[in-house]
Amino acid sequence: MQEIQTAAELRAWSRSTRASGATVGLVPTMGALHEGHLSLVRAARQRGDRVATSIFVNPTQFGPNEDFARYPRTFAADCALLEAEGVEVVFAPAVEEIYQPGASTFVEVKGLSQRLDGASRPGHFRGVATVVAKLFAAAEPERAYFGQKDAAQVAVLRRMVADLLLPMELVVCPIVREADGLAMSSRNRYLSAEERAESLALSRAVRAGEAAFARGQRSAESIRSAARHELERSPAVRADYVALVDWATLLPVETAAAGHLLAVAAWVGTTRLIDNCILGN
Ligand code: AMP
Repeated sequence: MQEIQTAAELRAWSRSTRASGATVGLVPTMGALHEGHLSLVRAARQRGDRVATSIFVNPTQFGPNEDFARYPRTFAADCALLEAEGVEVVFAPAVEEIYQPGASTFVEVKGLSQRLDGASRPGHFRGVATVVAKLFAAAEPERAYFGQKDAAQVAVLRRMVADLLLPMELVVCPIVREADGLAMSSRNRYLSAEERAESLALSRAVRAGEAAFARGQRSAESIRSAARHELERSPAVRADYVALVDWATLLPVETAAAGHLLAVAAWVGTTRLIDNCILGN
């Protein structure tokens, strides 16, 4: 596996890969890798792509009081995992490579970027869209792989790819969970044993909403309150949002239908976690 630090080298690898008749699959990550990330790599390999994984803790997507400084950085272990999955390139640029001195261009997906996590984390999706656009420009992939775990991010990036006429496909992969249902996340390592137990409220909330829909409930408010009720049962959990939205626009719906996104975000102690499901899936 090649370790690459510059956009120019990544582009050169991508172009020579394409010249040899292969396709390039990009898996953007912030590292601290787990099975959720590896599922994206496997999806790319299954499609026959040669895979580049980026590991970059992107400062512009963190708010001033968020966890940028203490975000887990486990580069050596991450590389071992990626190598074992047959990844060809790990792209791990310095912050100055991605944000050159004087950098003043940002990608803002208006409207969408202010919804769900964007409402709770002002500037977050502007940072995400900007870094992902830069990664796409550097890697020129045929396909890029993202997890449904970050469903609002998927909506923002789909809109960005369409609006910027980017000649690539976004592939969205299912949420990978721990055996007890907790959606895998790099931030799960912040949880104490007690918080880890309480964090199951999120997956329970999503399942409760999903079950209400499966029983025939179509009132968005009833589905949301079934989910909210599960969050409220756990004293250590503080809901940030419980939303039922159109997945493409992230706007709330009143009547639930298959394909709508039920998304929750909650604080467990000082850790903010998210989970979701697509109704009728
Ligand atoms: P991150 O390193 O948290 O920025 O995540 C990098 C990519 O991995 C994003 O596309 C995430 O949606 C995806 N991802 C993170 N956790 C999971 C999970 N539990 N299941 C599937 N994909 C995930």
